[in-house]
Amino acid sequence: MFNETMYKFLLAIIILITLLIRWYYRFKFYHKTQKVASSFKTREIVIAGSIGLSFFIPIILYYTDKLRFFNLNFPISVRILGGFFLLLNTLFLGWIHYTLGKNWSPILEIHKEQTLIISGPYKYVRHPMYTSLLFYTLGLPLLSSNWLMGLLPFISFIGVYSIRIPSEEQMMMSVFGKQYQFYMEKTKRIIPFLF
Ligand code: SAH
Repeated sequence: MFNETMYKFLLAIIILITLLIRWYYRFKFYHKTQKVASSFKTREIVIAGSIGLSFFIPIILYYTDKLRFFNLNFPISVRILGGFFLLLNTLFLGWIHYTLGKNWSPILEIHKEQTLIISGPYKYVRHPMYTSLLFYTLGLPLLSSNWLMGLLPFISFIGVYSIRIPSEEQMMMSVFGKQYQFYMEKTKRIIPFLF
């Protein structure tokens, strides 16, 4: 029963839910608001594009059976657990988007009616969406039993953590000032109590 086709099917469902969440919030809110601050626009577009490609390329290769060389031979239990973890992560992503609402943007920007969100997942960490990105990089290699499915997305996570987060926090500070500073003192970036 548990053959590669089944894992591919499960992954397709996970990808579809993820894309539906992203698209729903993109079309509902994005581009409908006036921007007051945007940082490093070209660099940001490159980062956003690289994140997309770091997932897209290995996924396409996986579906076309070109990734066998990177196979990890995980047992069924590990693969199913990875799929379950990814499904939970899509719920987490939905919760994040729901909480962030119209404040979300794919590149670093702040718009006119933006408010500082500190509720829901934002109560525990400042960048839950990047936590969720990290969770995708962990779940994908487990479900696909393939290390390239984790390596490329993880590289983009490192880029997000070391380049995008510092700029994002600087941008948030420039608009929300003391309010954001106070929020920074109370929360960690990605994992509660850790980092
Ligand atoms: N870094 C956040 C959000 C990613 S989306 C996360 O990982 O969950 C990026 C946009 O979200 C940024 O352009 C910024 O305008 C907005 N943003 C980030 N943190 C926010 C917050 N606490 N409240 C409101 N908007 C926020």
